[in-house]
Amino acid sequence: SGKSEGRNVYRFFEPGMDALARARLTLETDLDTALKRQEFVLDYQPITNIASGEIVGAEALMRWNSPTRGLVAPDDFIAAAEDSGLIVPLGEWALKQACSVAAGWPPGMRIAVNVSAVQIRSADFARSVISALAVSGVSARRLELEITETVLMDESETVLKTLRQLRELGIRIALDDFGTGYSSLGYLRRFPVDKIKIDRSFIHDIDNRDTAAIVRSIIGLGAELGITVTAEGVETEAQLDILRKAGCVEAQGFLIGVPSKAADMARLLKSKAASRPA
Ligand code: C2E
Ligand code: MG
Ligand code: MG
Ligand code: MG
Repeated sequence: SGKSEGRNVYRFFEPGMDALARARLTLETDLDTALKRQEFVLDYQPITNIASGEIVGAEALMRWNSPTRGLVAPDDFIAAAEDSGLIVPLGEWALKQACSVAAGWPPGMRIAVNVSAVQIRSADFARSVISALAVSGVSARRLELEITETVLMDESETVLKTLRQLRELGIRIALDDFGTGYSSLGYLRRFPVDKIKIDRSFIHDIDNRDTAAIVRSIIGLGAELGITVTAEGVETEAQLDILRKAGCVEAQGFLIGVPSKAADMARLLKSKAASRPA
């Protein structure tokens, strides 16, 4: 059977279904219920400008607060939500929620939201983004949408048109997990993006001479192309120091701040804004 019918084949438990397929179907059903019961939450992780040391925004990261499974990380449920199609309403909820939270942040503070390829392909995507901004009152300039290469692998005119439309509104598009994909450079050539987020595996391994050379090249590439480069997964001062010397613009990681509850992030951002010289 073709890929497109794959998820419709096992609609119900069947004797022949193996344990894995059954667990997956249970997960998809549970996710559906979880959205109705509002069990999803967003944590926020600060992003800093390396040169000034100031926080410029935060990334919204989804968690599932399940009464039976405990706190579930996105890597353990996003793929299932994509397969079942639930990612469309779930992602829409995340956009609305993140924008309404960011509306309470100091002026200009940016909000980054991860969006899945499945979501972008849905016909209503641009409209739901515009509506999330309108309802929250957050300006398009403050919103960053983080996409991965899988979005760009789909070279349909629809995806291209959607990305163009969103950029014309002033929304920034960031290429997440840069360097891990199949053809990162190829995509940069074909798709206009505003930001590159260097995958944290490179930062983790930045002590290695070759890795450091690759990271410096990505930073140089960003500068040449006029694309902001953000380093993900910065955990040590030594890593930050290498990135600073290489001219990396932004950093994100446990060293700068761990993902935290909306209320804690709002407090942090307000205290920073208040202590900043006028
Ligand atoms: P991502 O967008 O690349 O997010 C960064 C991930 O790195 C987050 O994991 C974050 O907690 C983790 N991280 C941040 N700083 C550090 C660090 O210094 N060291 C280490 N080891 N890890 C760090 P998380 O929250 O588990 O999210 C995993 C992935 O799930 C995200 O990767 C993103 O691709 C996806 N995701 C998260 N929220 C959403 C969402 O709302 N929608 C969609 N479609 N995907 C999401
Ligand atoms: Mg991201
Ligand atoms: Mg990433
Ligand atoms: Mg990732």
